Amino acid sequence: MTAEFDIIVIGAGIAGASVAAHLAETHRVAMLEMEDRPGHHTTGRSAATYEPNYGPPPICALTRASRREYDAGGYLSPRDSLFLMPDGQEEAFDAVMAGQKGMTEISPAAAKAMLPLLRDGYARRAILDAGTADIDVDLLHQSYLKRFRQRGGTLVCDAPVSALEKSAGWTAAAAGRTFRAPVIVNAAGAWGDRVAAMAGKRPIGLQPKRRSIAVVPVPESIDIMSWPMAVDCGETWYCKPQSGKLLVSPADATPVDPHDAYADDMTLAEGIDRFQQAVDMEVTRVERTWGGLRSFAPDGNLVVGYDKDEDGFFWLIGQGGYGIQSSPALSRLAAALVRQEKPPSDIMDEGLVLREISPDRF
Ligand SMILES: Cc1cc2nc3c(=O)[nH]c(=O)nc-3n(C[C@H](O)[C@H](O)[C@H](O)COP(=O)(O)OP(=O)(O)OC[C@H]3O[C@@H](n4cnc5c(N)ncnc54)[C@H](O)[C@@H]3O)c2cc1C
Repeated sequence: MTAEFDIIVIGAGIAGASVAAHLAETHRVAMLEMEDRPGHHTTGRSAATYEPNYGPPPICALTRASRREYDAGGYLSPRDSLFLMPDGQEEAFDAVMAGQKGMTEISPAAAKAMLPLLRDGYARRAILDAGTADIDVDLLHQSYLKRFRQRGGTLVCDAPVSALEKSAGWTAAAAGRTFRAPVIVNAAGAWGDRVAAMAGKRPIGLQPKRRSIAVVPVPESIDIMSWPMAVDCGETWYCKPQSGKLLVSPADATPVDPHDAYADDMTLAEGIDRFQQAVDMEVTRVERTWGGLRSFAPDGNLVVGYDKDEDGFFWLIGQGGYGIQSSPALSRLAAALVRQEKPPSDIMDEGLVLREISPDRF
């Protein structure tokens, strides 16, 4: 038996779930996920930060355009971000300040007042971004999945798409079943080029890069939850409070093939060492670690839109390290493009240039 739909979305991470929730309002949509539950890969492994100044211009525009939905849904908790400039990161400091909106330079003493464990003399200069926040990623993801179900969408887990065939629409084979629809949305995260190859497309050169995180306990007597997220301007480490502990990342970006990622111990140890040079705190124990894949197109920008073959194959990949924060606006944009409607004007008003994210550029 072949199940018939209007649209098949491949992947139920934040990208697939959010666009599918919109599309299910108007179309019969199937979302196929290879794991036994949505969110097992990158979406479940992020640092959950909303930073509208982080990422290339299209991402920043989409992240700003997402703010209204974040506020309406109560998905954000305010948390400032501190950018610290040690010796040797003068150019990186300028790069952080270039083109930003709403950041201010503050004194190293003011930075230390916000982050009491900051080591004296580490930061020559400091920047405050007070427009950043923690995202409740699970709530956001689950709310998209819930809307998708309520609108009649069909989520099939344990369904790795293993073949795609084009003849009078697309036929997807997954776990012994077949699904047919005129439109396929490739939201397969790190596997985006693999899915494209199945559809007979030339891969765009998507590169998954591993990023690791360690959960470090701090003494119970210290209340860290009001501390900001802190990162060096050169992005060689960052830390942020979460559930009374500190997340510390070496900010690694190691090119790897798509796989079920895990943290690299050596990379973590080196990153924790860089973190310890910045703070008066000795890390004696790591409670838990994880790794995830941030996937980038060769120019670092998103890949969003119909394939130039005009055969109903839609690209929605290359979210890099910013796929959560941009997802509310990105999913609205992608749904409009799938339906061949005009892109939402509030998103375009943020300065988004569609050709910068179009698959036609490859
Ligand atoms: C350590 C780390 C920190 C991060 N921090 C942030 C942050 O603070 N803020 C932020 O905005 N972003 C952050 N990111 C990036 C963000 O997590 C990603 O951009 C986002 O999760 C990508 O979502 P996705 O849906 O494209 O990918 P995924 O969540 O990986 O979803 C893709 C899905 O496709 C499925 N799939 C693949 N192939 C097939 C197939 N053949 N058939 C069926 N299903 C398939 C996979 O199983 C997977 O569930 C971070 C990432 C990492 C790793």
